[in-house]
Amino acid sequence: MKEIKCTIIQDILPLYIDGVVSQDTKEMVDQHLQHCEKCQKEYGTMKRELYIPAENKAPIIQKINKKWRKKKIIISFASVFATAIILLGAYLCIFYYERVIPYSKNLFKIEMQNDNQLVSHYYGKSYATFHGTYPSPIVIDGEKKNVSFIFYTETIADSPSRSLINYEKNLNEQDYIWKFDESEKIDAVYYVDYDVEKIVARKDSWDSVLERAVLIWEK
Ligand SMILES: [Zn+2]
Repeated sequence: MKEIKCTIIQDILPLYIDGVVSQDTKEMVDQHLQHCEKCQKEYGTMKRELYIPAENKAPIIQKINKKWRKKKIIISFASVFATAIILLGAYLCIFYYERVIPYSKNLFKIEMQNDNQLVSHYYGKSYATFHGTYPSPIVIDGEKKNVSFIFYTETIADSPSRSLINYEKNLNEQDYIWKFDESEKIDAVYYVDYDVEKIVARKDSWDSVLERAVLIWEK
């Protein structure tokens, strides 16, 4: 067999050390190394340089795995949390978020009963809350009138706990009765969606509320 040049052997050495050479190549290198001191030396040096002990490699992989696991845990926690928030939001939206019932002639009727008691009837299925202002003087067409602004709210669905929480919302009793002293004062009742907080914050005013209000009862 023709002697193989050392340079060729040394070219193959890295692959040989990695163990990725064919059996024939391996045998060829083995044979050469047996009698060539120069290549033996080279082999020794290369092996030290190329060979990374397993225990040195391991921490890197473990670290990556740990990081991944941590990330996975955070992701799954986050998704559980997000789901919980969405469900809670949906629940609040369905049972507690109150929206204003738009005015409709057929739904609301204000009546002064015989005993001088002003009553608001609601003919819808059910409502969540009756909102009404204390009769307050407002100048309308140059005339000072005690006005009460009212509106009703509803929720998307009736919560089973709602009747327990709110004793004034009896589904069979759809009337709102003003207190006697208030009844006496009221000159007019307007239906309008208002937000006292906005008025306090000066983002809205009673004048502008009056502008969009619907007169539903007058003395
Ligand atoms: Zn050699």
